[in-house]
Amino acid sequence: MSTLKAGDQFAGVIVAAPGLPELDYKVPADMFVAVGDRVLVTLVKRRVVGIVVSLKTSTEIAGSRLKSILTVLNDIEPLRVEWLALTKFAGLYYQHSWGEAALTALPLFFRRAPVRTHAKWLEKARADRPLEMKPVVRPELNAEQRSAVEAVEKSEGFAPFVLFGVTGSGKTEVYLNLIENALGKTPDGQVLLLVPEINLTPQLEGRVRGRFPGERVVALNSEKSDSERASAWLAVHEGRARVLVGTRMAMLASFKKLVLVIVDEEHDGSFKAGDGLRYSARDLAVWRASKNRCPVILGSATPSLETWMKVKKGDYRLLELKHRAASKAELPSIELIAPPERGSGTALSAAAREAVDAVLAEGRQVILFMNRRGYAPVLSCGACGWVSSCPRCSAFTVFHKLERRLVCHHCGWSRPVPDACPGCGNVDILPRGTGTERIEEELGKTFPGKRILRIDRDSVSRKGEAEEAFAKVHRGEVDLLVGTQMIAKGHDFQNVGLVLILNADAQILSPMTRAREHLFATLMQVAGRAGRSGARGRVLIQTRFPGDPLFAALASQNYPRFADQLLEEREANLCVPFVYQALLRAESSTLAQALAFLRDAAKLGFVTAPETVRVYDPVPMTLVRLMNRERAQLLVEADDRLSLNRFLKTWSAQLPQTSAVSWVLEVDPADI
Ligand code: ADP
Ligand code: ZN
Ligand code: ZN
Repeated sequence: MSTLKAGDQFAGVIVAAPGLPELDYKVPADMFVAVGDRVLVTLVKRRVVGIVVSLKTSTEIAGSRLKSILTVLNDIEPLRVEWLALTKFAGLYYQHSWGEAALTALPLFFRRAPVRTHAKWLEKARADRPLEMKPVVRPELNAEQRSAVEAVEKSEGFAPFVLFGVTGSGKTEVYLNLIENALGKTPDGQVLLLVPEINLTPQLEGRVRGRFPGERVVALNSEKSDSERASAWLAVHEGRARVLVGTRMAMLASFKKLVLVIVDEEHDGSFKAGDGLRYSARDLAVWRASKNRCPVILGSATPSLETWMKVKKGDYRLLELKHRAASKAELPSIELIAPPERGSGTALSAAAREAVDAVLAEGRQVILFMNRRGYAPVLSCGACGWVSSCPRCSAFTVFHKLERRLVCHHCGWSRPVPDACPGCGNVDILPRGTGTERIEEELGKTFPGKRILRIDRDSVSRKGEAEEAFAKVHRGEVDLLVGTQMIAKGHDFQNVGLVLILNADAQILSPMTRAREHLFATLMQVAGRAGRSGARGRVLIQTRFPGDPLFAALASQNYPRFADQLLEEREANLCVPFVYQALLRAESSTLAQALAFLRDAAKLGFVTAPETVRVYDPVPMTLVRLMNRERAQLLVEADDRLSLNRFLKTWSAQLPQTSAVSWVLEVDPADI
């Protein structure tokens, strides 16, 4: 205990450093600080931004070691208790320090010591006026939509709902009505609308703005510059913005009064962060709604099994939209066809070509879905067996014909295509397999004169390019659209008569736990782009496994049956969501070192794990080498959430920090 003078005050401060708890600092006598203030403090020898989380009149730190707060950054209102609780929870849950969780949740502008232009920037950000928007016409809700809206309206306090609606059933319209009601009911209330993909936010942002021309609607996503993000964040923090539309990062924003949370396409993988604080924005959405005692709506045509299980258990309430909303729009027919013979040199079977011709003749558009970009996944030499591969990763390099380069899709490494086989000098090296570029080429030959557009990360890599490409499709300037996952999500295309799915089989054979769940969701979503208005659309799936039950469920568009079956299997095999998982991932310059670290970690784990927690043997990761780092992982599984959490806390504190091996702990890993 240091020698205290009467009236001395101390602050508990969190900083962005691993493993560090709340640190005590002295509050200088002439300084006024509040809980939630950002402050500048000295940490070891650096000056860092921290956040005050408590104020007290005594401290355990000896007087000689006790440092004072340098400056209070009272440029904005203090961070509120609700936000502090959220970041504290996220830190505990995902095994990071509170400070790491809190400071990574802040925009760069508020997490660094302010620069000289800061005050001016703030002034400008605050003066910014909402965009003027033309109000949009709104359709009359149909009976299903109305009853969904009413169910939410009637709820009180925390109320989790799953809006399970087929593609094109008008979920967005339901969201807009809920937002409108929420804003009307609480004059200073704010709404968070989470969306998965960046390429969708501009479209949705526009739709929301048009709907609430008098309100400030802001957006947070990784497309925005640091300054734009900080400005949107501040507008929400200060209560000037009433609607926030954003990707997962928006989940960690600071609200003045959150009254409604909506997660669109809740099953989407992008809600789970892949690095840093590996949080699930979907899961935090539910937590946050419960703390704010408000409704949360998880919308999807194919809810995740985690969510589906909660519906079955009665934790979440199911709201269903069984029909397409636009008048006369029906769900498309889904048919399976055989892929072309191997070695035929084409990706489209004769039946597929005929179907394309027929739809083009009607003046409607065709979507071709191929979940692999580039020309071919690998180049190979028939003479010696050489295959193009990445020197830094355990992966093939993909052949990109237009650029004439071989590219690693994992680390970005690339080189020009060699003139001859590097192994034996054979000049006849050939592409194997098919990617979007190759489909585009084939379409050009098969359907001469048709307007073909390819959308994938290669063709629309720059900001705004994707938006422009999609606008072209909407304007009817494209006959054949070929693309990856990017074209699957949410786009409300008006004139697509046929969707052709070219390579579903790769995923049918995948050993990953969630592969089937994800495949169903993707196929349903792509299929959902067909026939969204006007005449009925058609979906053709080329597959060698027409007997697979996944396709039967897809063809009958019966997601509940499929999900129920998967849940039964998972329960029988004791898989997620019936068990709770964490992965310890280690990487090093050699695989032996990574595995040795994990074996030691496993030994430690065996000692402390209670009966409800199982620690498995370490295994190399499927992509074992990435950017010259060798990677391995170890699975921890528990019967319940609480024992997993407790175990991870003690265990991770014992794991050594060495320079030879770096490790991360991932709670609720996306897929293994
Ligand atoms: P989802 O998000 O469920 O796929 P959307 O919200 O994009 O569906 O709606 C699909 C289409 O139906 C949109 O063009 C939308 O304008 C239209 N729509 C939605 N609700 C109605 C309604 N009640 N009456 C007429 N059209 C509607
Ligand atoms: Zn060769
Ligand atoms: Zn690589």
